[in-house]
Amino acid sequence: KAKQLGRNGFALFSSDLREQAEQRILLLKDMRQALCANQFVMYFQPIVTMQTMEITKAEALIRWQHPTKGIVSPAEFIPLAEETQLIHQLGEIAFTQAVDVLKQTQHFKNKLQLSINVSPVQFSAKHTTLLAWQGQLAKHQLTPDMLVLEITEGLMMQGEGRSQKRLTKLIQQGFAIALDDFGTGYSSLAYLKQMDTEFIKIDKRFVDGIEHNEEDLVLCETMILMAHQLGLKVIAEGIETATQHELLKQAGCDFGQGYFYSKPLPVEMFIDHLNTRNKQA
Ligand code: C2E
Ligand code: MG
Ligand code: MG
Ligand code: MG
Repeated sequence: KAKQLGRNGFALFSSDLREQAEQRILLLKDMRQALCANQFVMYFQPIVTMQTMEITKAEALIRWQHPTKGIVSPAEFIPLAEETQLIHQLGEIAFTQAVDVLKQTQHFKNKLQLSINVSPVQFSAKHTTLLAWQGQLAKHQLTPDMLVLEITEGLMMQGEGRSQKRLTKLIQQGFAIALDDFGTGYSSLAYLKQMDTEFIKIDKRFVDGIEHNEEDLVLCETMILMAHQLGLKVIAEGIETATQHELLKQAGCDFGQGYFYSKPLPVEMFIDHLNTRNKQA
């Protein structure tokens, strides 16, 4: 009897695995087609200066406009894209569409700084397109300081030196760096100074609790204090309520991002939103 159970258990297990593998292959095939059909687009989420509520930055976030599934979230395809090197093409889409928006917004009185998420894989590959970005910006009379590269702590922790050298190179070229999802990974605080980052982004997981949980508020206040003492600026993400905004503003947080200000918007809506705001100012 035990043997039979075991066999059944094993059969179940292996068919699960097979199903998973099949799903990955389907997703991969679907992604390759989507790249050809230009189904990946960037949405832009405003980031405000806390003190004035002015939109001074925005984060570019990728979306898959799937013909039958509708909008697919990056959580569902970024991991597979990273495993299969398709992330390089997605990274180029993010860069190219961000550059397009920069071109359309540089006439504003307050020039907009845009951030894009860059995967550790984009830094570690043999051939990388990252190092051509400065030149591509120059062709449009744009400079690297108009872009913030959002990286995760994982990148700085990688033993391999190549990624870090490339990051250093990008910083030398003038790109601004933000440490994304700060406090959620295996952070080594020493890397903060070593790598000359300009911003830390406090993760939504901390922001969520600050209204009701004293500990979360203390953590946010402490991160802000520490960042400022190291000469870094702070962006808090996932702000959804006026109270969260007020508490973080009081704590000295520099920039805020979240549904309280705006959801990520398709590019035309984002530009319209900026234009309306600009006229009011
Ligand atoms: P992230 O970089 O930490 O981006 C912030 C996420 O929080 C975004 O989710 C954004 O839509 C969401 N968010 C912002 N404000 C709020 C809020 O007030 N409430 C709630 N519930 N959510 C809020 P999204 O767009 O689904 O992206 C998820 C993650 O996928 C990103 O986390 C980033 O790690 C990754 N990602 C997105 N776009 C790209 C990309 O172009 N390249 C790479 N490599 N990764 C990307
Ligand atoms: Mg980000
Ligand atoms: Mg983040
Ligand atoms: Mg996050």
